[in-house]
Amino acid sequence: MRNERVKSAATAASGASISRRAKGNNMRIPVLLYHSMNISGNDYPSNDHVALHSDLRYVTARGYRILPLHQIVAAWLESPQRLEGERIVALTCDDGPDFDFRDLEHPTAGRQRSFLNILRDFCAEFPSAQPGLFMTSFVIAAPVARTILDRACMVGKGWMNDDWWTTAVDSGLMGIANHSWDHNHEALRDGKYPDLRRGTFASIDTRELADHQIAKAGELLRRLAPNPDTSLFAYPFGRANRFLRRTYFPAHAERLGIVAAFTDAAQPLTPRADRWAMPRFTCGRDWRSEEGLKVILDDCQRRPHVWMGLEFGAAR
Ligand SMILES: [Zn+2]
Repeated sequence: MRNERVKSAATAASGASISRRAKGNNMRIPVLLYHSMNISGNDYPSNDHVALHSDLRYVTARGYRILPLHQIVAAWLESPQRLEGERIVALTCDDGPDFDFRDLEHPTAGRQRSFLNILRDFCAEFPSAQPGLFMTSFVIAAPVARTILDRACMVGKGWMNDDWWTTAVDSGLMGIANHSWDHNHEALRDGKYPDLRRGTFASIDTRELADHQIAKAGELLRRLAPNPDTSLFAYPFGRANRFLRRTYFPAHAERLGIVAAFTDAAQPLTPRADRWAMPRFTCGRDWRSEEGLKVILDDCQRRPHVWMGLEFGAAR
């Protein structure tokens, strides 16, 4: 039943590019965020791999096209009207553990299909259903930080590597994007900034600290895994701060090669979004089932009705 829905929706779906659309300003694009480390069981609410496998089929059955986030951002920057009336969704994942790329044996939940292999499986099962299928992986850049976090936040099996970044990019299904130098994670101690408040990105409030976290990460990513997604940044811990959003990014975007920054605010991307605080929905927090994702997609289909100059929200 589900497969029939996916196939029929796929035939209705158009190509992978963003077309030029009529004028309008009510685009609402859901950018979805997954964490491949979110594994406590093997059902939808307890495992983001299970959720991603299901969601690929559900969004396709709903007639949504999955497109690379950098393409959506480029179109949005040119003119949000280009995205008007499109059923588009973007997929992202954060922190860059090896679970993004390779199948691994989880200590309690058993073997897990990687995010990239879940995308490959979908392509094999439905070859023409999503020509733009893509996931943006926001990774932590610093090798030393990844080694420490692998021990502190995972099970110390060496599952925070960068050896897969170029293969992931070469697959054409995954991009590697900037999630900072070391996440300013509380498990880390940096001799250079011993008094820096960790466990938040709110304390990254000077140019020097921002360059350490963002510019330095960008340089490494462009060297190790050059790809269009290095132009995208996702705030560790999900929140923008005023300095980065209002001062640092606007002033230094060109030098940094960054064109947009993402939070985890649970909102769709709209024409009025702030390019330095673009929202994302988080799997496990903002939806925990197909029904939960339906609520998000239904809301993104909502169109304001304009009558006599007054605007009403109306379900459609
Ligand atoms: Zn993170």
